[in-house]
Amino acid sequence: MKILVTGGAGYIGSHTIIEIMKHTGWEVISIDNFSNSSAAAYDRIRSITGKSIRHYDIDLRDLSATSKVFAENPDIGGIIHFAAFKAVGESVEKPLMYYDNNINSLAHILKCQQQFNVPYLIFSSSCSVYGNLRELPVTENSVLPKAESPYAYTKQIGEVMIADFVNVNPDCKCIALRYFNPVGAHESGMNGELALTRPNNLVPYITQTAIGKLEQLTVFGGNYPTRDGTCVRDYIHVSDIASAHVMALQKLIDEPDFPNYDIINLGTGNGVTVLEAIQAFERESGVSLNYKIGERRPGDVAAIYANNTKAREVLGWVPQYDLDAMMRSAWKWETYLKE
Ligand code: UDP
Repeated sequence: MKILVTGGAGYIGSHTIIEIMKHTGWEVISIDNFSNSSAAAYDRIRSITGKSIRHYDIDLRDLSATSKVFAENPDIGGIIHFAAFKAVGESVEKPLMYYDNNINSLAHILKCQQQFNVPYLIFSSSCSVYGNLRELPVTENSVLPKAESPYAYTKQIGEVMIADFVNVNPDCKCIALRYFNPVGAHESGMNGELALTRPNNLVPYITQTAIGKLEQLTVFGGNYPTRDGTCVRDYIHVSDIASAHVMALQKLIDEPDFPNYDIINLGTGNGVTVLEAIQAFERESGVSLNYKIGERRPGDVAAIYANNTKAREVLGWVPQYDLDAMMRSAWKWETYLKE
């Protein structure tokens, strides 16, 4: 079977391709326009797996170019759709850029799925759809509040678009995976998150500070109502996220009676504070991190972590990497980049 991975040169996309090549016989093709990645990701995939994949430098907003890929590959049996913009702060500043890219790309993927009779789709959603929900841990059947950012709203809209689409296309099935905070790198240390600009996320900020690319980490807020005053998040190793995609797609293939549309959280279920994350990093790297407690970052929720019972029960997915392993691999990748 041939699988189309969109955003295959990105952080989670590239790890998922590695996972597919390691554990399945599926052939992978990728579409990526390198808007937040580079073709070097395909070289890294080749170094780790020993195999090359066919890839297309295409913008999914271009429907005719996208359709051509499907026409050229009539044996595509499943799509894993990662390609999207993902920076919350940037989405607040440039909402139209987010709506244009994330919504139109998905609409085109669904159009092609319908036109070319592709039965299965796995969609990258996000815990940001839960916004400021108060009941923790969050479960998939929570009623979603108003989104806190245009980015989060594109994921809420995307989920609804897919539900409406499969409703009238019963031959198409989809699982949306709501990721919590993906971190870490491939255990070889040879593939990881590549921030093309100054990183926004905590773990790349930590590793880049530790290696000397950045001067100091600011912990955003030290007076939240949490056990040490810093925000609580559910960090999850990127390879665990990657393996869940393989399991979700396999589930759709294996179980003809599986619902046409389902939503599954991907998190460890453990809430970790920013200070605890820093301590784990220091323990694993042996580096003492230069950080200070600063102002709160606008838009941050105090605490969010997953109820992951559904992923365990429905997919049989069990996260393999703990927080120390996440930090160890992130540091291995940062030091690999320096070599
Ligand atoms: N954070 C921080 N300093 C940074 C970047 C992030 O203290 O330079 C905190 C942020 O306030 C949040 C947590 O780290 O509590 C995770 O932030 P990230 O941006 O990685 O993910 P988010 O949860 O916002 O999606």
